[in-house]
Amino acid sequence: MSISENIKKYQTLLPEQTTLVAVSKTKPVSSLMQAYDAGQRVFGENKIQEMASKWEEMPKDIQWHMIGHVQTNKVKYMAAFVSLIHTVDSIKLLREINKQAAKHDRVIKCLLQIKIAEEESKFGMDQADALELLASEIATTLPHVAIVGLMGMATFTQDKTQVEAEFNKLSVIYKDVKTKYPQLTILSMGMSGDFTLALKHNSNMVRIGSSIFGARN
Ligand SMILES: *Cc1c(COP(=O)(O)O)cnc(C)c1O
Repeated sequence: MSISENIKKYQTLLPEQTTLVAVSKTKPVSSLMQAYDAGQRVFGENKIQEMASKWEEMPKDIQWHMIGHVQTNKVKYMAAFVSLIHTVDSIKLLREINKQAAKHDRVIKCLLQIKIAEEESKFGMDQADALELLASEIATTLPHVAIVGLMGMATFTQDKTQVEAEFNKLSVIYKDVKTKYPQLTILSMGMSGDFTLALKHNSNMVRIGSSIFGARN
């Protein structure tokens, strides 16, 4: 199927309250434009410089989501335009986002990345760190950031039981923090291979790459 057919497929497949983030990392602007022409306006990238150059070239009504690990010294390259950062995992990073957003007189929306996978390679905070951050002054004294939800990635495995257990774990954490902090309305969870399981566990934002744009090199 073509990129635009894939976009249309997801538009009809996903529940209405679910946001589709089209993960376009490594793909050329021509591919992103096919998705754009099919109505897609939310794109996810994992490298800040690549996202910035696509932002410069492409229509300005696109919402750019940063879904990769963020180094503090690179926040400045996306502060002018990024719409949601999925991967906040420290107070230090949050402070830097606040500082750079202030320069552009913006409020940048952020998700706290929670580590639910077994793999050592996956970034993220544990539940206690996230709760501590939300309870701290930081959450209220940084006027240029808004924490609006949680994000997680399951272990890369064929074992559906394990993936589902990890999604369930994040879903429970989300429900728990949401009772205290109702401003958290986004649960970003699920990729091409596991989004169906994620939707079963209350995800309302899925990040789909390869099954829209094809395999990456
Ligand atoms: C690459 C990536 C995705 C998309 O993965 P696919 O399997 O291609 O759908 C989703 N989330 C994150 C954080 C990614 O880095």
